[in-house]
Amino acid sequence: SREWHLVARPHGWPEAEDFALREAAVTAPAEGRILVRNKHFSVDPYMRGRMNDVKSYTPPFKLDHPMDGGAVGEVIASNAEGFAVGDHVLHGLGWREIADMPAKHAVKVDPDVAPLSAYLGVLGMTGLTAYAGLFDVASFKEGDAVFVSGAAGAVGSQVGQMAKIKGASRVIGSAGSDEKVKLLTEEYGFDAAFNYKNGPVRDQLKEAAPDGIDVYFDNVGGDHLEAAISSFNLHGRATICGMIAQYNATEPTPGPSNMALIIGKRLRLQGMLVGDHTDLQPQFVRDVAGWLASGELKYQETEVRGIEQGYEAFMGLLRGENTGKMIVSLD
Ligand code: NDP
Repeated sequence: SREWHLVARPHGWPEAEDFALREAAVTAPAEGRILVRNKHFSVDPYMRGRMNDVKSYTPPFKLDHPMDGGAVGEVIASNAEGFAVGDHVLHGLGWREIADMPAKHAVKVDPDVAPLSAYLGVLGMTGLTAYAGLFDVASFKEGDAVFVSGAAGAVGSQVGQMAKIKGASRVIGSAGSDEKVKLLTEEYGFDAAFNYKNGPVRDQLKEAAPDGIDVYFDNVGGDHLEAAISSFNLHGRATICGMIAQYNATEPTPGPSNMALIIGKRLRLQGMLVGDHTDLQPQFVRDVAGWLASGELKYQETEVRGIEQGYEAFMGLLRGENTGKMIVSLD
């Protein structure tokens, strides 16, 4: 079985030499364990942080060890009660063809309810991030005007649509290409969208939200957060979910210069980690499954095929080559 190892810690943008696809032996599962043939694994922006040797909310990847992350696959051998060959499971040992794990670390999923890859995206971690970040952390309420950055990505595309479903007065998104902007307004029902590469975010947001915004869902940081602070109405709320604009930065990035406005506008800016919101999981799955079935909620995935493409898929994600969830599918 092949697996991806981190072999050197990237400085700035990762390079191909920082990673190696290596062969690992597969043995029969020990007591209480299962072997899973992965069908899809997830590449996510947070993995860039785990390539640095710094203390964070998730431990750094170890050099010369397989990387990990969300994956779904099929059980091919079981030495654990309750798991049979042919079962499909969601688990945390991605970046490899065959995963050997304690059965208690795997959750059974039903491929008849949704395509397996959906458990990594719209019905999985990124979907829950959108749901919890909008409804719980930002305390979204009907009539709010919502701005979301990274709006054509896995999290952002769901945030904007969920806000519309729940009665937002206006939803504005930003993304990094004109095609993505078109998708947001023509397919996902955003009221306005702009390409942040076409001009200053602050000006483009002012134009897209002439009456201001009440909620900002931040996936990007930097100039996007600064623009949101300027456009906020009184008592605006921001969910600080990600700051992808700085993940590959080697120098401190310019920050919002208008933080003092937070006082006068009585803003609330709150960081979030999806792992704190697992209590919302049942409600999230019920709502999202319903919206998918009714056609109110749409999603897209960008699929890269073949384990040898794992590194390229991750880099493509950082470069914005994905629309919706970036997934690596194995043959
Ligand atoms: P996405 O599907 O949104 O993929 C990443 C996207 O980021 C790219 O497609 C690209 O789109 C955009 N991007 C890359 N560089 C920049 C840049 N310099 N400025 C603006 N946009 C950029 O990923 P996810 O939906 O999985 O994650 C979105 C954000 O949410 C990330 O910041 C991530 O770290 C965070 N997150 C946080 C969680 C939490 O618990 N706090 C959980 C899950 C995700 P484009 O073409 O538009 O530039």
